[in-house]
Amino acid sequence: MSFFSTRGGAAVTASQAILYGLAPDGGLYVPAMFPPISQEKLASLTEMDYCQRASTILRTYLEDFTIPEIDAALAAAYDKAKFDDPAIAPTKKLTADTFVLELFHGPTLAFKDMALQLLPHLTTLSAKKNGEEREVSILVATSGDTGKAALEGFKDVPGTSCTVFYPTDGVSDVQKLQMTTTGGDNTHVIAINGNFDDAQTGVKTLFGSADFAEKVNAQGKVLSSANSINFGRLVPQIVYYFSAYADLLNQGAIALGDEVNFVVPTGNFGNILAAYYARSMGLPVKKLICASNRNNVLTDFFREGVYDTRRVFYKTTSPSMDILISSNLERLLFECADRDGELIATWMKQLKESYSYCIGEQRLEWMNSVFAAGYADDKECAQEIRARFDTYGYLMDTHTAVASRVLREYREKTGDNTVAVIVSTASPYKFAQDVLSAVKGEEAAEGMDAFQCSDALEALSGMPVPQQVRELRSLPVRHKAQCEKDGMAEAVMNAFAGK
Ligand SMILES: *Cc1c(COP(=O)(O)O)cnc(C)c1O
Repeated sequence: MSFFSTRGGAAVTASQAILYGLAPDGGLYVPAMFPPISQEKLASLTEMDYCQRASTILRTYLEDFTIPEIDAALAAAYDKAKFDDPAIAPTKKLTADTFVLELFHGPTLAFKDMALQLLPHLTTLSAKKNGEEREVSILVATSGDTGKAALEGFKDVPGTSCTVFYPTDGVSDVQKLQMTTTGGDNTHVIAINGNFDDAQTGVKTLFGSADFAEKVNAQGKVLSSANSINFGRLVPQIVYYFSAYADLLNQGAIALGDEVNFVVPTGNFGNILAAYYARSMGLPVKKLICASNRNNVLTDFFREGVYDTRRVFYKTTSPSMDILISSNLERLLFECADRDGELIATWMKQLKESYSYCIGEQRLEWMNSVFAAGYADDKECAQEIRARFDTYGYLMDTHTAVASRVLREYREKTGDNTVAVIVSTASPYKFAQDVLSAVKGEEAAEGMDAFQCSDALEALSGMPVPQQVRELRSLPVRHKAQCEKDGMAEAVMNAFAGK
């Protein structure tokens, strides 16, 4: 299987797409085709464990990897000692037609682990396959969860380093501590004075700079990305949509071939794009429901066909979705535009220069035949957490609650009661203060830190505080670097120099 750039650039192999992250023309790598998964194959997934399911899907894309290579990488990534649920990504039942796909059982308690536990293995294999002897220096912009997941994944992996930029005030206390206490000799964490879009735009600019690449090269390093612009991040995410479907079959919730809906809490559009790829491979999906918080640029896009970033950036209780420029949407646009790279390049240029682009009526119709979209603000999200806890005793985090709420509204509006899977992207303990306030009222969390709130949530729900949150209380802060928006190149160089 070869990979093309969304902006029309030349073909590369899977390992090259993973190793270099972003195409030289600034576009994102997309597979030449979506390998079909037959009904028989789909049925066979029901007999498999998570690693076997993942192997089935990954093989179809990673053609320049051997099957033993893929299987060894998967065994190391989804090691049962690192995930606190033996199913890795269990599908839990809320009601007869509503399920929750829990993607937060990995080491950093967010769905990013599903990809970032695997990516370092794919990266080092890709470096070997391509004779790359320079250190693979991963640069990451994070809205909170990617950073820690990338640091954990790449920590002390030989031949790599991992540098993370996070917005100073854009992440939760637990998220910040998770990053700044990270161990490892090859990890760097830098606070940027700005929001997530500033961090992401800055990192993209560094990737696009020949001058910066030369400076990095002079140090025997080559840049790569662990953001969801990297195809190596996307491909492991396709797996859990198939896995959830197999779980629903095993639970008797659906019959083979029945369509299901997925509702996905969305920021950079990576998670839901993987669902779209799964659907394109033949997974029976009716609607993909894109759930946003108050930063509802995507809700407007799916309604009007215009992507317009000229709007206020809100800080919400679901910070990992506080994004106005959703990078992976570019990959969906590419499909929507019949893979016309030139058109994508034009839209992206318009976005950069005049902050918006318009896809037109017909293409919008195409989008709406597959996707639905909605949003929930912080108050609605808190109500949803409380409602789900009071009714089902199920505790969800703020991001998952946005999706749950959007599903509720979607069903009321459309009457579409197809079996739906709420994709749960984080543990409630990652956002303990907001979750506790939602369940018990704001007074309950007042004056309490994240750890006290975690204890209160444990008492309330009986769900134990994860060890990873507990240990944060005593870990020393190791990373204190800070920089301004225009000082990112220098900050990376300082980090490399150990300053
Ligand atoms: C990253 C993240 C999201 C958004 O996922 P995208 O792939 O960027 O759309 C949602 N929820 C949580 C908890 C996250 O960490």
